[in-house]
Amino acid sequence: MVPSARPRKLAKVPFVELADGRLQGVVSSGSDIGRVYVSSVEAGSYAFACSTNNNRPCGGARGWFCNHIRALIGEAVLQYGAERVARYLKIEDAAEESDAQSLTGAMTATRPAQSDSSAAAQVFSRFLRHLAYLELGPTTAPLPEMQWFPTTRAVA
Ligand SMILES: [Zn+2]
Repeated sequence: MVPSARPRKLAKVPFVELADGRLQGVVSSGSDIGRVYVSSVEAGSYAFACSTNNNRPCGGARGWFCNHIRALIGEAVLQYGAERVARYLKIEDAAEESDAQSLTGAMTATRPAQSDSSAAAQVFSRFLRHLAYLELGPTTAPLPEMQWFPTTRAVA
Protein backbone atom coordinates (compact mmCIF):
# COMPACT_ATOMS: atom_id res chain seq x y z
CA MET A 1 0.00 0.00 0.00
CA VAL A 2 1.33 3.44 -0.92
CA PRO A 3 0.67 6.07 1.73
CA SER A 4 -1.17 9.05 0.37
CA ALA A 5 -0.84 12.65 1.44
CA ARG A 6 -4.35 13.39 0.29
CA PRO A 7 -7.23 13.22 2.74
CA ARG A 8 -8.53 9.71 2.91
CA LYS A 9 -11.75 9.01 1.15
CA LEU A 10 -14.03 6.69 2.97
CA ALA A 11 -14.55 3.34 1.40
CA LYS A 12 -18.17 2.58 0.64
CA VAL A 13 -18.36 0.43 3.75
CA PRO A 14 -15.43 1.44 5.96
CA PHE A 15 -16.51 -0.53 9.00
CA VAL A 16 -18.35 -3.81 9.37
CA GLU A 17 -18.53 -6.22 12.27
CA LEU A 18 -20.44 -9.23 13.52
CA ALA A 19 -21.01 -8.19 17.11
CA ASP A 20 -23.70 -7.86 19.78
CA GLY A 21 -25.89 -10.34 17.92
CA ARG A 22 -25.99 -8.10 14.89
CA LEU A 23 -24.34 -7.50 11.60
CA GLN A 24 -23.56 -3.82 11.92
CA GLY A 25 -21.34 -1.20 10.49
CA VAL A 26 -20.85 2.16 8.88
CA VAL A 27 -21.74 2.89 5.28
CA SER A 28 -20.70 6.10 3.60
CA SER A 29 -23.28 8.18 1.83
CA GLY A 30 -23.09 7.93 -1.91
CA SER A 31 -23.56 11.67 -2.35
CA ASP A 32 -21.98 13.32 0.69
CA ILE A 33 -18.49 12.29 1.78
CA GLY A 34 -19.04 13.85 5.19
CA ARG A 35 -22.11 11.83 5.97
CA VAL A 36 -22.19 8.21 6.99
CA TYR A 37 -24.94 5.82 7.91
CA VAL A 38 -24.88 3.37 10.76
CA SER A 39 -26.71 0.25 9.64
CA SER A 40 -27.48 -3.01 11.38
CA VAL A 41 -29.33 -6.29 10.95
CA GLU A 42 -30.16 -8.42 13.97
CA ALA A 43 -29.36 -12.13 13.99
CA GLY A 44 -32.39 -14.38 13.90
CA SER A 45 -35.09 -11.76 13.44
CA TYR A 46 -33.25 -9.71 10.77
CA ALA A 47 -34.74 -6.62 12.39
CA PHE A 48 -32.91 -3.78 10.74
CA ALA A 49 -32.00 -0.21 11.53
CA CYS A 50 -30.32 2.56 9.61
CA SER A 51 -29.62 6.13 10.62
CA THR A 52 -27.00 8.78 9.99
CA ASN A 53 -24.19 9.41 12.43
CA ASN A 54 -26.28 12.37 13.58
CA ASN A 55 -29.08 9.99 14.43
CA ARG A 56 -31.40 11.01 11.62
CA PRO A 57 -33.38 8.06 10.34
CA CYS A 58 -32.44 6.83 6.90
CA GLY A 59 -35.10 7.74 4.36
CA GLY A 60 -34.49 4.55 2.41
CA ALA A 61 -35.06 2.16 5.32
CA ARG A 62 -38.82 2.63 5.72
CA GLY A 63 -40.07 -0.91 5.99
CA TRP A 64 -37.39 -2.34 3.74
CA PHE A 65 -33.64 -2.91 3.62
CA CYS A 66 -32.14 0.30 2.27
CA ASN A 67 -29.12 0.46 -0.01
CA HIS A 68 -26.85 1.00 2.98
CA ILE A 69 -27.96 -2.23 4.61
CA ARG A 70 -27.55 -4.04 1.30
CA ALA A 71 -24.05 -2.60 0.93
CA LEU A 72 -23.28 -3.65 4.49
CA ILE A 73 -24.34 -7.23 3.79
CA GLY A 74 -22.25 -7.22 0.62
CA GLU A 75 -19.16 -6.04 2.47
CA ALA A 76 -19.70 -8.54 5.29
CA VAL A 77 -19.82 -11.38 2.77
CA LEU A 78 -16.58 -10.10 1.22
CA GLN A 79 -14.82 -9.91 4.56
CA TYR A 80 -16.23 -12.88 6.44
CA GLY A 81 -17.56 -15.12 3.69
CA ALA A 82 -21.20 -15.89 3.02
CA GLU A 83 -21.21 -19.01 5.18
CA ARG A 84 -20.02 -17.22 8.29
CA VAL A 85 -22.42 -14.32 7.79
CA ALA A 86 -25.32 -16.73 7.27
CA ARG A 87 -24.38 -18.67 10.39
CA TYR A 88 -24.04 -15.55 12.50
CA LEU A 89 -27.34 -14.10 11.34
CA LYS A 90 -29.00 -17.54 11.68
CA ILE A 91 -30.13 -17.67 8.09
CA GLU A 92 -31.03 -21.32 8.08
CA ASP A 93 -32.56 -21.63 4.68
CA ALA A 94 -29.54 -20.09 3.00
CA ALA A 95 -28.50 -22.02 -0.06
CA GLU A 96 -25.26 -23.98 0.05
CA GLU A 97 -23.64 -21.68 -2.47
CA SER A 98 -25.01 -18.46 -1.15
CA ASP A 99 -23.78 -14.98 -1.84
CA ALA A 100 -24.70 -11.54 -0.58
CA GLN A 101 -27.67 -11.38 -2.90
CA SER A 102 -29.17 -14.70 -1.87
CA LEU A 103 -28.60 -13.95 1.83
CA THR A 104 -30.31 -10.59 1.42
CA GLY A 105 -33.14 -12.30 -0.42
CA ALA A 106 -33.55 -14.94 2.29
CA MET A 107 -33.79 -12.24 4.95
CA THR A 108 -36.13 -9.88 3.13
CA ALA A 109 -38.41 -12.82 2.28
CA THR A 110 -39.26 -13.05 5.98
CA ARG A 111 -40.44 -9.41 5.93
CA PRO A 112 -38.27 -8.36 8.88
CA ALA A 113 -39.31 -5.51 11.12
CA GLN A 114 -37.58 -2.19 11.46
CA SER A 115 -35.95 -1.77 14.84
CA ASP A 116 -34.88 1.35 16.65
CA SER A 117 -31.33 2.46 16.11
CA SER A 118 -30.36 2.76 19.76
CA ALA A 119 -27.09 0.93 19.14
CA ALA A 120 -26.04 3.32 16.39
CA ALA A 121 -24.06 5.66 18.66
CA GLN A 122 -22.13 2.71 20.07
CA VAL A 123 -21.31 1.34 16.64
CA PHE A 124 -20.28 4.76 15.42
CA SER A 125 -17.93 5.36 18.35
CA ARG A 126 -16.29 1.99 17.70
CA PHE A 127 -15.82 3.06 14.11
CA LEU A 128 -14.15 6.30 15.23
CA ARG A 129 -11.84 4.36 17.52
CA HIS A 130 -10.82 2.17 14.61
CA LEU A 131 -10.19 5.25 12.48
CA ALA A 132 -7.96 6.69 15.20
CA TYR A 133 -6.14 3.37 15.36
CA LEU A 134 -5.52 3.45 11.65
CA GLU A 135 -4.09 6.96 11.94
CA LEU A 136 -1.37 5.77 14.29
CA GLY A 137 1.07 5.50 11.44
CA PRO A 138 3.11 2.92 9.61
CA THR A 139 3.74 -0.40 11.23
CA THR A 140 5.33 -3.59 10.06
CA ALA A 141 2.64 -5.75 11.60
CA PRO A 142 -0.22 -6.76 9.35
CA LEU A 143 -3.39 -4.87 10.23
CA PRO A 144 -6.51 -6.76 9.25
CA GLU A 145 -8.44 -3.52 9.69
CA MET A 146 -6.62 -2.05 6.73
CA GLN A 147 -8.85 -3.99 4.44
CA TRP A 148 -11.61 -1.59 5.38
CA PHE A 149 -9.84 0.92 3.20
CA PRO A 150 -9.13 -0.97 0.03
CA THR A 151 -7.09 1.25 -2.23
CA THR A 152 -8.29 -0.37 -5.39
CA ARG A 153 -12.00 -0.14 -4.84
CA ALA A 154 -13.76 2.84 -6.33
CA VAL A 155 -15.83 5.04 -4.07
CA ALA A 156 -19.33 5.19 -5.40
ZN1 LIG B 1 -29.95 3.45 5.00
